[in-house]
Amino acid sequence: MSATDVLQEKYAASMMLTYGMPPVALARGCGCTVWDVDGNSYLDLVGGIAVSALGHAHPALIAAVTEQVGTLAHTSNLYLHERQVELAVRLIRLLGVDGRVFFGNSGAEANEAAIKLVRRAQGAERPVIVAADGGFHGRTMGALSLTGKSSIRAPFGPFGVDVRFVPFGDAAALADAVRQDTAAVFLEPCLGEGGVVPAPAGYLKAAREACDQAGALLVVDEIQSGIGRTGEWFAHSAEGITPDVLTLGKGLGGGLPIGACVGIGKCGSALGKGDHGSTFGGNPVACAAALAVLDTIERDGLLANATTVGASLAAGIEALGHPLVAGVRGAGLWLAIVLAKPVATAVAATAQRAGFLVNAAQPDAVRLAPPLILTAAEADAFTEALPAILDAASVVAPSQEA
Ligand SMILES: *Cc1c(COP(=O)(O)O)cnc(C)c1O
Repeated sequence: MSATDVLQEKYAASMMLTYGMPPVALARGCGCTVWDVDGNSYLDLVGGIAVSALGHAHPALIAAVTEQVGTLAHTSNLYLHERQVELAVRLIRLLGVDGRVFFGNSGAEANEAAIKLVRRAQGAERPVIVAADGGFHGRTMGALSLTGKSSIRAPFGPFGVDVRFVPFGDAAALADAVRQDTAAVFLEPCLGEGGVVPAPAGYLKAAREACDQAGALLVVDEIQSGIGRTGEWFAHSAEGITPDVLTLGKGLGGGLPIGACVGIGKCGSALGKGDHGSTFGGNPVACAAALAVLDTIERDGLLANATTVGASLAAGIEALGHPLVAGVRGAGLWLAIVLAKPVATAVAATAQRAGFLVNAAQPDAVRLAPPLILTAAEADAFTEALPAILDAASVVAPSQEA
């Protein structure tokens, strides 16, 4: 039995099987490469689902976290600490707005804070939140209520949030749904879990206008799209709008758990003393990690790297002209290879055998969300290996798809 088999057997006996059985047991990583417990190496094009922005074992992250854990690992929010304030100031400056930040430990917690914020700001006369079909906002009860995939939401209702779903990308349907009873609209600039589906140009602007007209707040969920993923600090900047609330997570901590809810303008003051809290939220070690992520993105020009390497990766995949590739969606180092057949799970499996980790985000969409440090040579290595990976996947029967 391999070391992976042994671990999987123990996992099956001891872990709740909420994730099914993960096919790979990772032991360590360096840069964009990871190794499993049997010593096999993989080029990591998943990045822990758009989290490991600096790749694995990055010296800046190691130094920041080591220094902080050796100085002060935890304070609770009864006491303030420098790293948390520094990170809040930094995020507000990057956004170029007036605002205030609440820190949690995950994306879902950032959205929970946003849900409470809009309730507090809008009161009981506006019970409705508008969200998109195919959208994803997290797995906790509030965030789940906004998640536009009924197979993962429906078994857990009823929810305490009254949600009106609209088709993603349809500006007219959105304007129609945002009414006097609406507290807020929650939107991703580009569906992440939904398969890296960018909103049509002008959609966020239309959402902004619909909100302004009806007196609703616009909450932009950049938990997956933010912090350089698309080649911009924030994906919504490219749309020329300012949200009322912005949520962040995933790549912000570079692998350490942190989430942030940014209230912009008067939304920064909507939650007051006693309204919300989190024991670990804004933990010094997580904040030190996030500061190292922001510093490194800036110092090493990783926004430009995401833009150029991402563009050449997308162009390279499209230029293969492979019959199984219907197209490539996304921007920066956040792409979906759109397949002509729903065999994404098979592609992920054959890629893994070839030494590449990719993610089957949808039956017909293979998601790439590699570290922002991915080099052109690493991207090329994947593009060159891809035809054989796709050929191998083509022969897998569609019935094997989950
Ligand atoms: C991942 C994700 C979340 C949830 O974040 P967790 O850290 O898993 O709770 C929320 N919104 C979007 C857009 C995400 O991609």
